[in-house]
Amino acid sequence: MAKIGKIGLLPQILIAFVIAVIAGIIFGPGIAVVQPLGDLFLRLIQFIIVPLIASSLIVGVASTGNMKTLGRIGGKTIIYYLVTTLIAVCIGLVAALLFSPGTGVDISSAGKIPEATETGGFINVLLNIIPTNPLESLSSGNILQIIFFSLFLGIGITMVGEKAEPVYRFFDGLAEIMYKITWVIMKLIPIGIFGLLAPIIGEYGLSVLLPLIKLVSVVAVACIVHALITYSIAVKTLGKMSPIQFFKGIAPASLVAFSTQSSSGTLPVTIKCSEDNLGVSKKISSFVLPLGATINMDGTSLYLSVAALFTAQAYGIELTFGQIMMIVLIATLGSIGAAGVPGAGLVMLVLVLTTVNLPLEAIALIAGVDRFMDMFRTAVNITGDASGALIIDRSEQNAESSSAVSS
Ligand code: ASP
Repeated sequence: MAKIGKIGLLPQILIAFVIAVIAGIIFGPGIAVVQPLGDLFLRLIQFIIVPLIASSLIVGVASTGNMKTLGRIGGKTIIYYLVTTLIAVCIGLVAALLFSPGTGVDISSAGKIPEATETGGFINVLLNIIPTNPLESLSSGNILQIIFFSLFLGIGITMVGEKAEPVYRFFDGLAEIMYKITWVIMKLIPIGIFGLLAPIIGEYGLSVLLPLIKLVSVVAVACIVHALITYSIAVKTLGKMSPIQFFKGIAPASLVAFSTQSSSGTLPVTIKCSEDNLGVSKKISSFVLPLGATINMDGTSLYLSVAALFTAQAYGIELTFGQIMMIVLIATLGSIGAAGVPGAGLVMLVLVLTTVNLPLEAIALIAGVDRFMDMFRTAVNITGDASGALIIDRSEQNAESSSAVSS
C-alpha cells in the first residue's frame, strides 16, 4: 500500500475516521463546512468507475480467451455470492429473534414513506441487462449493462484474433491509465473519509440514534459477526489466506464504503485493494468485483431480514413460518436487485414489508437511523465482494495449474 510521509495509508484512514467522528460530535451540524472535501473525493472516485471497469473487463475477458473458462468463473461467482447472501439473511434472522430490537419501540413517530421502485418484473430485469445502446449504458453508468457489453467486446476480440489486436492494445493502455489514476486518488481517501463522515455524524448526532439504538446495534453486530465468521472461514479454507491479512488488506475499501454508503462508488478502491493487497489477478477482479458491487449485498440482505422482524415485533405481529421463509426469499432477491447507492436497502424494505403484509409505516420509523445501518451494511457488502474475488482467483489458479499438469 502506498505511503504518504511516514504513516501508511491504513493508519491515516483510521486516524481520519476517528477525527471525523469526534469533530462531528463536537461541532454538530456546523461541521457541514467540510462536506466539499467529501464531495471532491466522491466525484473523483466516481469519474473513474466507468472507464476503469469497462477497460479492465474487456482486457480481462480478452486475455481469458475462451467461453468455457468464462462460464466457469461466472458460475462459481454466482454460487459463492448466493450462498453467502443466504448465510447473511439467516444471521440477521437469528440476531433479530435473539435480541428482539422491535419490542417496546414507540411506533407513533411517523415520517415519510419512500416510494417503492418499480422493477417491471423479473423477466424485464433480466432483459434490461442487455443494452440497446452501449454508449448510453456507458454514459448513464449502468454497471450491469457495461459488464454485458464489455464481456461481449472481450469475447469478440478473442474471436477475431489478429485484426482486433489494436483494439485490445487500446483498452489495455486505457486500463493501465485508469489504474494509475486510481492509485493517485487513493491517497486522498483520508481527506475524503473526513469530509464525508464528519457532516453525517454532525447532522444526525447521537440523539437521533438513541430511540432506535437497539435496531442499529443489532444490524451492526450481526454485520460484524457475518464478516468475521463467514468471510474468515471462506477466506481461510477456500482462499488459503489468513483472515487477518484479508481484513487488513481490504480495510481501506471497507472504510470508504462505510463513509460513502455506496458499493458502486467504492468500486475503484475495492478493485485496487483486492489486486494490490490480496493478490487477486486483474482478470478476476475486473469481472467478479463489478458484478459483486451490483448483485452481491450480504449486509443489505441481513439488514432487510432484521428490519422485517423489527417491524413485526414493533407492531406486535406474530409471524408464521411461511412468512419467515418469504422474508428469506425476498431479502435475498431484494439485495440482488438493490443498487449500490446510499439508501437503496431502505427502498427494498418497502418490497419486503409489502410481500409479507407488514405495516409500511415502519419505514418512516427506520428511515431516521437508516444512514447508520447503511454504513455497516455497505462495508460488509464490499468486503463480501472482495472475499469472492479472492476465492475465485485462488480456485482459478488451481484449475489452471491442474489443467497444465494434465495436459
Ligand atoms: N448502500 C448499500 C450499497 O451501496 C445498499 C443499501 O442501501 O443497502 O451497497
